[in-house]
Amino acid sequence: MGGASTAHGMDRRPPNGYVGVTSGALMSAIVDGKVVLFHYTLTNDAGETLDSSSGGDPMPYLHGAQNIVPGLERQMTGKEVGAKFRATVPPEEGYGVRDGDPQEVPRSAFPADMEMAAGMQFLATDDGGEQVPVWIAKVSGDSVWVDQNHPLSDVTLHFDVEVVAIRDGTAEEVTHGHPHMPGHHHH
Ligand code: ZN
Repeated sequence: MGGASTAHGMDRRPPNGYVGVTSGALMSAIVDGKVVLFHYTLTNDAGETLDSSSGGDPMPYLHGAQNIVPGLERQMTGKEVGAKFRATVPPEEGYGVRDGDPQEVPRSAFPADMEMAAGMQFLATDDGGEQVPVWIAKVSGDSVWVDQNHPLSDVTLHFDVEVVAIRDGTAEEVTHGHPHMPGHHHH
């Protein structure tokens, strides 16, 4: 390369205080405070599909706000629009390691008009007065088995991810800790 090429290169250098092409691309990567839209298919070790966004809208979340399981959020960090990758997440970074068995509770402990079915999630109040999520593991006769473990606890999660869009979260979204999407109920 001759002197002309060198001069051309110098012309392309951004003025002081401005980001260059490379830095600009890095700034569009996923970091805390970004709202990210992504498509995913979640499978288990056996390759069975547990959940998928395909055929629907991409999933929105606010990065750094623990909207998604920690192991997936960690592996989303630094990715850019168009990135396609597989994130394998062990239970410790996913829905947890099973701790304790479902507990049998009389059906009469719940409001009579409350629908009860396996897989349903609701909030219960623990001994310390904290609200904790619990799941119905089984309904049988006059008994309901309530499980503090997420149905996907102990499961190694395989997410096939495509990053669809990345934008800055608004101040309100960052304060609330979740994205606000058009057409969705504001809270
Ligand atoms: Zn909100």
